[in-house]
Amino acid sequence: MKVHERFLNYVKIDTQSVHDAKKIPSSEKQKDLGRLLVEEMISIGIEDAYMDENGYVYGTVKGNTDAPVIGFIAHMDTSPDMPGSGVKPKIIYNYDGSDIMLNDEKQIVMKTEMFEHLSKYIDQDLIVTDGTTLLGADDKAGIAEIMSMAEYLINNPQIKHGTIKIGFTPDEEVGQGAELFNIEKFGADYAYTVDGGEIGELEYENFNAASAKVTINGVNIHPGTAKNKMKNSILIGMEFHNMLPVYETPENTEGYEGFSLLTDMSGNVEKTLLEYIIRDHDIEKFNIKKDRFQKIADYLNEKYGQGTVELKLEDSYFNMKEKILPHMYIVENAIRAMENVGIEPKVVPIRGGTDGARLSYMGLPCPNLCTGGHNFHGRYEYIPIQSMEKVVELLIVIATVK
Ligand SMILES: [Zn+2]
Repeated sequence: MKVHERFLNYVKIDTQSVHDAKKIPSSEKQKDLGRLLVEEMISIGIEDAYMDENGYVYGTVKGNTDAPVIGFIAHMDTSPDMPGSGVKPKIIYNYDGSDIMLNDEKQIVMKTEMFEHLSKYIDQDLIVTDGTTLLGADDKAGIAEIMSMAEYLINNPQIKHGTIKIGFTPDEEVGQGAELFNIEKFGADYAYTVDGGEIGELEYENFNAASAKVTINGVNIHPGTAKNKMKNSILIGMEFHNMLPVYETPENTEGYEGFSLLTDMSGNVEKTLLEYIIRDHDIEKFNIKKDRFQKIADYLNEKYGQGTVELKLEDSYFNMKEKILPHMYIVENAIRAMENVGIEPKVVPIRGGTDGARLSYMGLPCPNLCTGGHNFHGRYEYIPIQSMEKVVELLIVIATVK
């Protein structure tokens, strides 16, 4: 089976995950794909393939030479932010560089002026949606590419490779794909998630992340007799927010610039709640940002009385760079492999987190490789077949012992 044929089979299965489900997998239907993958793995010769009770799929391509054990990981779920059922992929053969009509009836068009990267794929074959759902290249393309790599290695025993471990996880899109990943049983020395975008992307840096919950306790009293007694928690909340740097917000930052973001605010005179997320690649700058929250809280408590401001800071995840740097050969091998198969490497910092970051801190160093897809989590998601084929080649070269 060709890699894109595999992919087309997978995207037809709805695997949308669900926020706040408090169980893994967050939606049972993810196991439908899990079962299909186990069957397919066994049929191509991965004898030990199985799915555990939480919907994690594991399998081994036995090595034919002594080498470090490399893992390849992709996730089965799709984003809760866009419908993932009834995906009707279409192939645009020999793309001519013009706007793409995704849905004639609903007049949904993918415009080249909006998506400049389309011009890179003229004469290639693009898989697109019908405009009403996402495509699911994130991350079923990663699964298909890993599968095709495994099949190729099994069918070509003359290629020398170490043991290859494969892991397909549920619930990456709701931030819990790494949670019940069995690193010990997986048994890889290091791994790659195949979950990135455009061909050539390679990522080993992500944000350090924390959340801040600010509770302001005010004093309410009849406004007619409030003089010197009322403490309006809404106003104190606004004062809190106004002490944060206005230029350190998502809409004013890019690249390696960190930010804090007010995600929610509610309140009345008596009580006000502000919720923030804090992000920075640099651990020192990250700590300074968290520290600033504490200093503002201290200042306002001094001004309005102890207990006025309660601050709860909580770390969410950390930059995997710290865990990758001692093993930079993992990244260097991937860069060399890209150059070998004619892919131009684009090493970029992730302005977010990945399961690989969590896994890196759990003891499995795990940078992220491209899948070849674009416009994840939306109706304009697409992937060129040629990019998928290139990524399969890339994975084979990474696995091969030179
Ligand atoms: Zn993904």
